[in-house]
Amino acid sequence: MKRLAVVSGKGGTGKTMVTGALAHICKRKKIMVDCDVDAANLSLLLTPETIHNEPFTGMSVAAIDQDLCLACGACAMACRFHAVKMENNRFFIDPLHCEGCAVCHAFCPAAAITMEPRACGEIFHSLTEYGMLIHARLYPGAGNSGLLVHELRKQADKLGQDCELTLLDGPPGTGCPLISTISGADVALIVTEPSRSGHHDLERLIQVIRRFRPLIFVVINRADLDDEMTRTIHEFCRRESIMVLGDIPFDTEVIESIRRGEPVTKTKCPASEAIHMIWEKLEPVIW
Ligand code: SF4
Ligand code: SF4
Repeated sequence: MKRLAVVSGKGGTGKTMVTGALAHICKRKKIMVDCDVDAANLSLLLTPETIHNEPFTGMSVAAIDQDLCLACGACAMACRFHAVKMENNRFFIDPLHCEGCAVCHAFCPAAAITMEPRACGEIFHSLTEYGMLIHARLYPGAGNSGLLVHELRKQADKLGQDCELTLLDGPPGTGCPLISTISGADVALIVTEPSRSGHHDLERLIQVIRRFRPLIFVVINRADLDDEMTRTIHEFCRRESIMVLGDIPFDTEVIESIRRGEPVTKTKCPASEAIHMIWEKLEPVIW
């Protein structure tokens, strides 16, 4: 089983468009994971049929038993996240600010604080015409996105034992969910765009990803919108000894295919041809 993570330093580069296209053109048996749990949208391109869903409980949250509480305020003093509030001489926990560290629980002289599991979202297993998709919905403000990605990866490893490929649609940025996505990946395919911020985020992303030692490749989406910046990114990648597998041109068919809810590679168009060529270079490197 090989693991290919499609990632980007920032949102809006076309990462999910590329992942959806690879899901379509890779004919090997595979399982897909949408690791962008804060804004999961790979399912919009793969028309999944959900066959299983389950709650996701992240880290615990503190709760105060008012019958036991002595109103001493020790928990409020101990909590460095300011999650313990006081109203009318009663103390209570604001679950949106609680980080689940359990320090208040340890400090409470009356054993009035318990740590309770918090429902953070839902996990789905869905069938698509390209293979099974593991995805999730994180409740607003729930946090725990890194933990959720870790759980999705674990489930994909179990359900995709007979697959040749796990295709991971990564989150934007370099935070916790990216770390959970990239750890254990064989190949990282970075989708960037020819802009100053795209270039800057690419540099940061490469620094982070290198620590996990996957093979790293880059594709530049909408490359023809700024030829000079595209050249700059090519030069940067050459200096870093990272291969740019291809440039994807700006193509209005990409937007049309998203509107239709299907991978762009289902249509014959310049962007589709570029992604086919990228896959022709990538597939023999993975296997
Ligand atoms: S568990 Fe930690 S973050 Fe939550 S209220 Fe207690 S001390 Fe504060
Ligand atoms: S430390 Fe315990 S007893 Fe004191 S206010 Fe907090 S919950 Fe109540």
